Amino acid sequence: MRLVWLSINASYSHSSLALPLLHQAAQSQSSWTWQKLESSLGDNPGELALRLSELQADLLCCSLFLFNCEFVYSILQRFRVLHPHCVIIAGGPECLGPGAVKVLQNCSAIDLAISGEGEAILPKIMQIISQGDRPRGLPGMAWREAANGKIAARELQPPLQYQAWPNDSPPCMSEFFATDKPFVQMETTRGCPHGCSYCSSNRTQVRSKSLQQVEQELKLLSQKGVQEIRLLDRTFNLPEKRALQLLQMFRLQFPQLKFHLEIHPQYLGAELREELKLANPGQLHLEAGIQSLQDEVLQALGREASADKSLQGLEFLSRCKAFETHADLLAGLPKQSYNNIVDDVKRLIALGPAEIQLEILKVLPGTPLQTQAETLGLRHSPEPPYEILQTALLSPRELRLASALSRLIDLFYNQQKLQAPFRLACAENDGFIDAFMLFLTNQGFSAQWTGSLAKRYSLFAEFCQEGSAQLKDCLALHWLKAGLPQGETPYYKPEALSEMPPNCLLLEGRQETQNLKNTRLFLLRGLQHHYVFAFNRAIAMQQPCALWKCRNSPAN
Ligand code: SF4
Repeated sequence: MRLVWLSINASYSHSSLALPLLHQAAQSQSSWTWQKLESSLGDNPGELALRLSELQADLLCCSLFLFNCEFVYSILQRFRVLHPHCVIIAGGPECLGPGAVKVLQNCSAIDLAISGEGEAILPKIMQIISQGDRPRGLPGMAWREAANGKIAARELQPPLQYQAWPNDSPPCMSEFFATDKPFVQMETTRGCPHGCSYCSSNRTQVRSKSLQQVEQELKLLSQKGVQEIRLLDRTFNLPEKRALQLLQMFRLQFPQLKFHLEIHPQYLGAELREELKLANPGQLHLEAGIQSLQDEVLQALGREASADKSLQGLEFLSRCKAFETHADLLAGLPKQSYNNIVDDVKRLIALGPAEIQLEILKVLPGTPLQTQAETLGLRHSPEPPYEILQTALLSPRELRLASALSRLIDLFYNQQKLQAPFRLACAENDGFIDAFMLFLTNQGFSAQWTGSLAKRYSLFAEFCQEGSAQLKDCLALHWLKAGLPQGETPYYKPEALSEMPPNCLLLEGRQETQNLKNTRLFLLRGLQHHYVFAFNRAIAMQQPCALWKCRNSPAN
């Protein structure tokens, strides 16, 4: 018997964790051989259907999530024409709760859909097929009756939760665990006790691997040459004691591995903070779920969070220099106005996390929000990615503005080479973001806008023409630091120097660079401060290789 796994990823850098997890969990089904066909969204569905057809599957499995549904349906519909009798199963986030029935309604090629974690049910399905029967009627599945094509379902809610998960062999033991990607995914816990209504992990039973199991798995991953791990644990820092033990393990036993963690900034006790302060430089990357800084909005989402506590936590994390913290915000939430969104963005910018992600809320299948949406006044797309289109307080135009704001943050704040002047502009003028957005919109800016770094700098500098001396100096300084053309530096023209002026303080690079062969020195005469830049192509092609501040500047 042959099981074929169709894996359609968002991009080449991703790979499916579901496949190795299920492969390990179905070891008891020894009469089956497994094969996978992996591709990404850019491929041709017709070509993939033909390739799939050559594999002669008895059972075809696929995982559906927001962005691959239509693409996978298109492959499966073609495949079904060629193989009318092969059983086709779908699982994944799209099939959660009543989503399983909807998937069958949307794609007539699919025979059954599994709601929730598939490890317990897939081996049973394989056994039924190998006995020559058609799987139907198991708890946690929706299926199409062979006799009349009608869709039936049993116990889809709550979605299946696989209890034996912590004791299964780790997915990296499977031949299908990919280690050739930039990162691998790993779980040390599953489930979340919290009740955020938009989240598919909402109030799911928490199951945890023991510290020994985690250590063993990390050793295996290290032996396989893995360098970067994204932990899928829903809230890594809860419970705090476990997070503390894991962080100590990462720091002391696995300093060569990098970890990407999702944390809730509200739950950062004193001990956890002390441990985070000890982090190996560059080893951690934190994703802090803020979502909103309005308590009323958080309550409407069932999110047990306090905006003030989250802000305090984020402030601590943003000050830790050993790792980067990205902060997540959502737009389109119940009881949230456009001004709330802009205020949240401004407060986060003032704290200075490495990046801010502002996303439009999605009403995901199987989440409580899906059933509450109408009562809460949320109108959303019926098609993936189910994004909010209008709320009681946000018009479609304001949601479009929120998308443009998200793009603006991405292109200006999240660009490290622009972040310092952007933060300064926000700090100097409370109305900066709104005014800059209006200025950009008049230049054709939208959520789809693309522009080179030089273009963004130029627009930013044009808008800040009447800005403070400090802001203009900062913009010109960072233009040159970014390696953009010296001759086009905003506001000032850098002057070539034949020798280093006296009394300069080295800020970046090495002092001796000034005396190297082929080093060219330039003076930036700002209104408040003067800077000397050293360029040497043998050290850096475009960017300056050293930077000094003149102590004789006007502001000193
Ligand atoms: S958003 Fe995070 S804290 Fe809330 S239910 Fe989901 S996993 Fe839990």
